[in-house]
Amino acid sequence: MDFKDLRVNGQRLQGSLEEMAKIGGTPGGGVQRLTLTDEDKQARDLFVSWLKELNLEITVDEMGNIFGKRPGRNNDLAPVMSGSHIDSQPKGGRFDGILGVMGPLEVLRTLHENNVETERPMVIVDWTNEEGSRFAPAMVASGVWAGALERDWVYDRTDIGGKRFEDELIRIGYKGTAACKKWPVHCYYEYHIEQGPILEMEGKLIGAPKGILCLHWYDIYLAGEANQVGPTPMEGRHDALCAAAEMILKVNQLPGRMGGNMVATVGEIQNYPNSRNIIPDKVHFTVDIRSWDDEHAIKAWELVRKDFEDIAANRGCPIKIEETWRVEHSPFDEKRVQLVLDSADQLGYSSLHMVSGAGHDASYMNQVCPTAMIFVPSIGGRSHVEVENTRWEDCEAGANVLLHALLQSANEKL
Ligand SMILES: [Zn+2]
Repeated sequence: MDFKDLRVNGQRLQGSLEEMAKIGGTPGGGVQRLTLTDEDKQARDLFVSWLKELNLEITVDEMGNIFGKRPGRNNDLAPVMSGSHIDSQPKGGRFDGILGVMGPLEVLRTLHENNVETERPMVIVDWTNEEGSRFAPAMVASGVWAGALERDWVYDRTDIGGKRFEDELIRIGYKGTAACKKWPVHCYYEYHIEQGPILEMEGKLIGAPKGILCLHWYDIYLAGEANQVGPTPMEGRHDALCAAAEMILKVNQLPGRMGGNMVATVGEIQNYPNSRNIIPDKVHFTVDIRSWDDEHAIKAWELVRKDFEDIAANRGCPIKIEETWRVEHSPFDEKRVQLVLDSADQLGYSSLHMVSGAGHDASYMNQVCPTAMIFVPSIGGRSHVEVENTRWEDCEAGANVLLHALLQSANEKL
């Protein structure tokens, strides 16, 4: 059977994305669908109703991951899998994550209406809490599934209001009974917006990352001495926020000092008591370091850690450092990456071999089976913001690449 003329329905894909964008839609045109909130539940319910229309076999596991399985001709063969995440950042965009769930859904709808059978089964997945903004760290549910993280450790993670992950999972009705544990997968493709400016700058339509940068997260806690700002002389103050300010600039200068090949960011800070007439006595901030070279990132951290300790000592602000999370850089399967590039080629789309600066569930999936990703351009390179945008025709093109990569993989007998 020749599938080379098969294409997804771009309008239907757009319609699904627009429906989803209404759930947690923000006035600025983005979405706020934090993990395990009522909005997450509402979007999951809609997703599950769409899976039911295709008669997929639906499984929800104990981490709330949702799987929909379409049988193949030979169900003893390991399935091909594709998916991403439904959750979003606070005031996030309409494409991050959800495109990688609606994309494979559109592929399955296309196969369904054309009565296309594949040799292997196909599985679509929504991974719980990819973003990690409500419950840190990110990508926890694919991490547990892949065996890289402990389920009970994730269950006990709390949000800023003290709510537990497991309790919230139960509350929204998505703590399933299936064990969250990897099973054999033939290969995994994750479709995603690029979230950066490279494709647009290079004028290319499809990105095939050779892998994902390593990702190191740290949490810094500083203690100072609170006092009335007026009567307290500048000399002898222990101002935790000033110590943090010096440290933040050190983080910003770090990639320059290390000679590039990395990025380093402080994205979150809490200052206490956060009053204009009290010297801050407690500050928490985060550090995020990413590189293709794990050793380079660790060397950079050691350098900046030493600076932190010196600054803390100079200002008399005791420091506590937590090494919260490390994911090694993740080179994807070359054969699968090539298949993405070839599929783009056959469809007449321009493509680019690149790297992914953002973390994705594909990092953990890459530890389980041959994995690749498909990127489409983010307009202006903007993501994790309300103005995040991707052209509808680009969404359609990426879904066509996914369709052909999945079809070819699902018909591999070996
Ligand atoms: Zn994402």
